Amino acid sequence: MPLFCPALSVFIIFVTLMELSGLNIKFLPGVGEKKAAVLLEELGIQSYEDMLYHVPYKYIDRSRIYTISELTGRLPYIQVKAKIKDLKSVGTGKSQRMTAIAYDDTGTIELIWFKGFKYLPGQLAPDVEYLIFGQPSEFNHRLNIVHPEIDKFEKASPLLVGFQAIYPTTEKMKKAFLNSKAIGKIQDTIFKTIQGKISETLPAWFIQQHKFMFLHEALYNIHFPTSPEMLKEAVFRLKFEELFYIQLNILKLKYKRKTYFQGHVFQNIGTYFNTFYQQYLPFELTNAQKRVIKEIRRDCGSGKQMNRLLQGDVGSGKTLVALMCMLISLDNCCQTCLMAPTEILATQHYDTISHLLEGMNIKVALLTGSTRKKEREEIHQGLRDGSLQILIGTHALLEDVVTFQNIGLVIIDEQHRFGVAQRARLWQKNKVPPHILVMTATPIPRTLAMTLYGDLDVSVIDELPPGRKPITTLHTYDRKRMDVFQFIEKELKKGRQAYVVYPLISESEKFDFRDLEAGFEQLNNYFLPKGYKVGMVHGKMKPAEKDFEMKRFLTAETKILVSTTVIEVGVNVPNASLMVIESAERFGLSQLHQLRGRVGRGADQSYCILMTPYKISNDSRKRIETMTSTNDGFEIAEADLKLRGPGDIEGTQQSGLTCSLKIAHLGKDILILNEASRIANEILASDPELQNEQNQLFATQIKRLFKTRITWRYIS
Ligand code: ADP
Ligand code: MG
Repeated sequence: MPLFCPALSVFIIFVTLMELSGLNIKFLPGVGEKKAAVLLEELGIQSYEDMLYHVPYKYIDRSRIYTISELTGRLPYIQVKAKIKDLKSVGTGKSQRMTAIAYDDTGTIELIWFKGFKYLPGQLAPDVEYLIFGQPSEFNHRLNIVHPEIDKFEKASPLLVGFQAIYPTTEKMKKAFLNSKAIGKIQDTIFKTIQGKISETLPAWFIQQHKFMFLHEALYNIHFPTSPEMLKEAVFRLKFEELFYIQLNILKLKYKRKTYFQGHVFQNIGTYFNTFYQQYLPFELTNAQKRVIKEIRRDCGSGKQMNRLLQGDVGSGKTLVALMCMLISLDNCCQTCLMAPTEILATQHYDTISHLLEGMNIKVALLTGSTRKKEREEIHQGLRDGSLQILIGTHALLEDVVTFQNIGLVIIDEQHRFGVAQRARLWQKNKVPPHILVMTATPIPRTLAMTLYGDLDVSVIDELPPGRKPITTLHTYDRKRMDVFQFIEKELKKGRQAYVVYPLISESEKFDFRDLEAGFEQLNNYFLPKGYKVGMVHGKMKPAEKDFEMKRFLTAETKILVSTTVIEVGVNVPNASLMVIESAERFGLSQLHQLRGRVGRGADQSYCILMTPYKISNDSRKRIETMTSTNDGFEIAEADLKLRGPGDIEGTQQSGLTCSLKIAHLGKDILILNEASRIANEILASDPELQNEQNQLFATQIKRLFKTRITWRYIS
């Protein structure tokens, strides 16, 4: 970074984001080791640049000072100029709190602190004017402000007037004195320390053409808005830029893939495919399945490497599509593999597929972490000499010792469980890149998929096999548990089976684990005497134990399966017609939808019961309402997008497909996204490699932003 010299301040000094990314936040005055560690842990903030891109989630108008007589319980955050008297401690123990009276010429209002008031008496003096900031609320017909922010009026810095930015913080951050105000202070210090301008990340001609605000100005205004209009422009510029570079990158790669990457050409539809289709297919394909198979066939025959995402709601029959595509690969003398995220799923796929292929003389094998050494060696050998045609498995497929004679098609099920690096390894298993088909049941709204997954081709199975009855979803409260038990019993009497799922967000959380075990015991006590066995699976069990429990449920030896979300993806037990989800308020929408998808797979009417405490947050309530009002995965994905933004939708983040957006919100900024995409296309149409002089900055930026992502982007 250039040193600042006051005598030369007429020259504008430019600092690049690259330079700012090299400056560790811990050296910034007022931060230090401890706070820096918390920032890193909680928000992943390490450099000045990271901090500048940690943007407010809302703003509060502090341009106006209210009088106390104007206050009502319906106002948002406000500020008053007042003196403070009668500071005292009330109550003892847990209910201890501190109160005071704030007064101006027009009236009085009570201030209340429930915690953190130890130092108050030393800080507040009588007859001093303060700027008091907070949200008035009404309690017993009296107004008060809980945990107000207080500054001496004459000392109130410019930070406290005009628009004030409010930053997301966490409990840990607050404990480390990193509340929203402190973050604002840090941003302020950064701008003071830079003492120059942040250099542009978009070419000058481009900024001029689209009348964008300059980067430096935009970053400043997003933290310290100088007016509502400036704030709006700043937000637009930053959102646009963020989405634009993602689009430019994806579209550039797509172009490259389509131009340079030769794939295996699957010209033949031969004996394997046709024999299976004519003699072994257990049911008529749905129209959607037929269409998707056609799309994949066309892709694989084109001479270009296929890179396709197959979306289909839970139960839409993706496995069969996968199998038929694998047969096309065999017809073209190529091996093929199917990779699943868990051992349970891999085993299930193996069972289903070997069963479907019975009598066809095709060699299929299963490779997982628990495959025995001898068998494992045989599999490796079979893959190398080409005698083994279809391999199904888990991460074990990725090990370096696994090499194929000639792999033509890789299918990845429930892709979001796989990390980016892992997919890259699959890719490297062959000289000619295999065709890749990624299957997912996490629906992505179509507009979003087309724009955001620009480098993937997308196929959608938008039709369920015939005869499925829509699942009935109900919401009930914890205290009605006995009613729920009776309902379960009624279903069991009809010969059905039930899942009861508990949240176990991280499998190591002791607290959740107790819930799960207590739930198991309760169910066992109720149902065992009536002759119904209850089983349990969770992530802490050894794979063999899990398998054992799953098999007992699959063969209907156990009638109820208590579990964590390990059963979330893919598990198929058509006789199970009831899904009870405990603490449903703690699950995300896509997860709830996945779980519900475990039932409704047979011909019987199926039910999903969502249990929650009486009191739940507004967002939770909306999620539950969405679930009870629709079975359509795409509708649910739209709702999820609106509620949370796609960064949080399970899968999108890990899959890297959305990158993590810092400023834009894909649920709300779809119009900006479309515009960014259109403009990116326009630029690439005339300069696909971004080699023109005037596009140099685009190329540099892409390199900087996406340098670690290049290799895997080809994969999905
Ligand atoms: P998912 O898309 O969730 O992976 P599966 O492939 O597990 O769905 O299929 C769900 C169920 O539907 C399976 O029992 C499968 O045998 C059945 N199925 C698939 N395709 C059809 C079809 N065309 N007609 C009838 N049943 C089908
Ligand atoms: Mg599946």
